[in-house]
Amino acid sequence: METFDYVIIGAGSAGSVLANRLGEDPVSRVCVLEAGPTDWHPYIHLPAGFIKTFHMKSVNWGYQQEPGPWTGGRSIYAPRGKTLGGSSSINGHIYNRGQRQDFNTWAQLGNRGWGYPDVLPYFKRLERRVGEGDETYRGRDGNLTVTTMDWNDPLCEAFMEGAVSLGIPRNPDYNGAIQEGVSYCQRTIQDGLRMSAAKAFLHPARKRGNVDVRTHAHVTNLIFEGKRAVGVRYLKGGKGGTPVEVRASKEVILSGGTYNSPQVLQLSGVGSPELLQSHGIEVRHALPGVGEGLQDHYAPRSVARVKNIRTINELRRGVSLWVEALKWATTRRGLLSLSPTMVYCFWHSGETTESSDLQLTFTPASYKEGVQGQLEDEPGMTVASWQQRPESRGYVRIRSADPFTQPIIQTNYLVEEIDRRVVVAGMKLARRLLASKPLAPYYAYEDFPGPKVQSDDELLAAATERGTTTFHPGCTCRMGPADAKWAVVDDQLRVHGLQGLRVVDASIMPRMISANLNASTLMIADKASDMIRGKTALEAVKFPEQA
Ligand SMILES: Cc1cc2nc3c(=O)[nH]c(=O)nc-3n(C[C@H](O)[C@H](O)[C@H](O)COP(=O)(O)OP(=O)(O)OC[C@H]3O[C@@H](n4cnc5c(N)ncnc54)[C@H](O)[C@@H]3O)c2cc1C
Repeated sequence: METFDYVIIGAGSAGSVLANRLGEDPVSRVCVLEAGPTDWHPYIHLPAGFIKTFHMKSVNWGYQQEPGPWTGGRSIYAPRGKTLGGSSSINGHIYNRGQRQDFNTWAQLGNRGWGYPDVLPYFKRLERRVGEGDETYRGRDGNLTVTTMDWNDPLCEAFMEGAVSLGIPRNPDYNGAIQEGVSYCQRTIQDGLRMSAAKAFLHPARKRGNVDVRTHAHVTNLIFEGKRAVGVRYLKGGKGGTPVEVRASKEVILSGGTYNSPQVLQLSGVGSPELLQSHGIEVRHALPGVGEGLQDHYAPRSVARVKNIRTINELRRGVSLWVEALKWATTRRGLLSLSPTMVYCFWHSGETTESSDLQLTFTPASYKEGVQGQLEDEPGMTVASWQQRPESRGYVRIRSADPFTQPIIQTNYLVEEIDRRVVVAGMKLARRLLASKPLAPYYAYEDFPGPKVQSDDELLAAATERGTTTFHPGCTCRMGPADAKWAVVDDQLRVHGLQGLRVVDASIMPRMISANLNASTLMIADKASDMIRGKTALEAVKFPEQA
């Protein structure tokens, strides 16, 4: 059996960073096992290819969630990347770190070294910010290029003016000192091409020669000797493929993402004894928190019909599309270089006195049935709005002992009353933004939720009928102290009660953050890499008020 120092399961956002950093030690041998194929497909790299990879089974797990009590009986689609780069190879490219109190809350939950001053140096080390940014907050020398949307669109400009007219200021850098305000979004795009975690971290690591990346390697379970993880079993070629085992002399690191990391643990006998026994799986280690606590952002998408101007809906058709294709081929700009969202707005619902609890996005386009993925024929504009720090929690549990059966994903969107109130407040703000004076020359009428929907109950009913995921699941292998019943890993990301095993990905977040999750997942992996290598953590940032 082959032996490596480290075996990493999953070449996604976290796995790619880990492979890069652990491979920096020339004597270390690193094996990365990825269930999906290589990331050769052009739709991965073309920014507008997002719309294609969204449903492309070859690079996407394409999961379905269970209907929840507040999703109107609907099973909401849950795309996840299944290729090198993982979800960062199919995501919407937005770079958004969150607010300082997100991480301070993690620390307050008993996780030493995870407060904002501790994590900021890792955000900085990872990125190569091109454009506006105060050096206290932004990095200039990392592998991950972060640019600002360079499409100056009259509708986007009018939307931002509308926000300003409602008292929401322009913010030149929402990843800087404060998040609040409105601005064009920052993106992991370089020269008109996607900057996935694979491109930024994994591919450069492979060139060193000590990082062995195996695609079509579907991990079925972990191998233990007593309470120590010593290796991994996978099927080469996926379902029906050849069983292969690899050993890790130092550590096995599980980076399968929020849905698959708990699944692999449960399949390996680590989790709630009742759940495991109900599927005939021998309990290796009872850890009831595995898979529990799932959180995600839930967004209704408000749509208005547009007049007097062309939206993306028309530009992606016929001759216009050919013109745009030529533009992209020659300049790497234009329609095909766009992300699904163009403007970001962070503001208060009025429900809490804390920092902004609403995130709103603006797109000069509209999608079929309000869902991202398929553009409509009629011109439209969309504002998605969601609560940044939802309280509702669900779970990920294996459906069967078969590693190829998708786990049960129950997010329990909106089960907590505060979530329902903030989502309704978000829809009201979205309505005011779309109906603002600067947008008036282009605003025809509100299509969704529509003028008949007025009371809070009616708005909530509309949210229930049409809300969707914003693709930010986290928190299913939560980081916390050993005496917390919900905790799966400690603040070094080691699985409680086991040796030689860490979980490093979005699943370890103890609470949802006020952001899309890619940036912080990369940060988690970078910080974990120092822990694994036994390096001293980067020095915490001292802000003026602490000096
Ligand atoms: C459609 C979409 C849009 C998004 N938009 C944004 C955005 O604009 N901005 C943002 O910040 N975030 C966005 N996100 C979220 C963000 O990309 C993810 O939160 C982040 O990439 C998660 O990183 P991860 O390492 O936890 O998991 P992933 O990147 O999903 O990596 C997990 C990897 O493990 C592999 N794997 C899983 N199980 C196994 C197994 N059994 N054997 C072997 N390999 C396995 C998977 O194939 C995958 O490659 C989006 C996500 C999606 C799906």
